[in-house]
Amino acid sequence: MATCELCGNDYDKAFELILDGQSHVFDSFECAIQAIAPRCEHCGCRIIGHGLEKGGVFYCCAHCAQQEGVTELHDRA
Ligand SMILES: [Zn+2]
Ligand SMILES: [Zn+2]
Repeated sequence: MATCELCGNDYDKAFELILDGQSHVFDSFECAIQAIAPRCEHCGCRIIGHGLEKGGVFYCCAHCAQQEGVTELHDRA
């Protein structure tokens, strides 16, 4: 039995994620995404795919990166 650290739900199928050596426990992927997925700097959406990163700032796609003036990032299709 573990307790989701985001919503506090006690759930027997909760799972653990290790991020930067720290353990996080969630009852669902939705809670995990809410808690730890980075946000696109431009549009604010949660990045749950690969995304793009430049200087510690995340973007969901090359288009958003370009809107923020980052021109060297391209989607890796
Ligand atoms: Zn939860
Ligand atoms: Zn975006």
